[in-house]
This record gives sequence, C-alpha cells and structure tokens, in this order.
Amino acid sequence: VNGDSLELLRDAGVRVTPQRRAILDAILGAGAAHPSADEILREARRRLPELSRGTVYNTLAEFVRVGFLQTVETGGAVRYDRNLDEDHQHFRCRSCGRLFDVEVVGQESLDPRLTPGFAVERTRIVLEGRCPDCRPSDHERKE
Ligand SMILES: [Zn+2]
Ligand SMILES: [Zn+2]
Repeated sequence: VNGDSLELLRDAGVRVTPQRRAILDAILGAGAAHPSADEILREARRRLPELSRGTVYNTLAEFVRVGFLQTVETGGAVRYDRNLDEDHQHFRCRSCGRLFDVEVVGQESLDPRLTPGFAVERTRIVLEGRCPDCRPSDHERKE
C-alpha cells in the first residue's frame, strides 16, 4: 500500500511529504468507505502522530484539486470518495451512517419540474435506509 501512495503522488506531480503519504495511505486503507476528514485524521495519526488537523484539511483540498478524490455531501460531515465516476450515487445507512456506492438506472430520464431560470449542473441521489450489517436478520424479523 505504501508503494501505491508514493506512485500516486508522483504521477500526479504532487510533492511527496510524509504528511501527504500518511493521509493518502489512510484514504487508500479505507477502501470504499467514504471517510470523513476526522476519520482520515484519526487513521493518518496512527502513522504520523504529530499530524495537525489543518494539514489534513489542506491536503484533502489539494487531493480534490488534483483529482484523487471527490467530496460527497449528504447532510452530515463532508465525506471523501475515491470513486470519481460522476454518475455514481450513494446509499446512506441511517443506522451506522456509512455511505455505499450505488448505480442508479434511469437517472438520465429524471424530469424535475423546475421553474424557468434554473440550470441543473449535476444530479446527486442519496438513498437512505439500512445496510446489510444493520438490518435485522430474517430470523429476528419473524419474532
Ligand atoms: Zn449500517
Ligand atoms: Zn462513492
């Protein structure tokens, strides 16, 4: 994983620093979990305890600028997404708060009733409910 973050930074022309590597490693380690800045800070500090919150926020902004990440806002804390596909949407578990990537078929044919003067720039759909980990099992539901 360390090799990956080094290569990613170099390929993007971003100067490699221990801080940037620790933050990027924390993001890569989170997989598809869409971590918040605080979650990234906590994880990155395990690698680099002196890391400051300001550095993490500045670095995340830079990573968004160079195209490592996009931000996802679903009402809670801003989350960071390694999946840069503009058309993917999210399912938010109302119990554990995690975000999951989801492809929504037919989103191109949405027909919002907008009054004249509005221009849609992108569509963000957030589905809410319970993830498999948080849903009561079939067994529990029968009781
Ligand atoms: Zn859940
Ligand atoms: Zn996503």
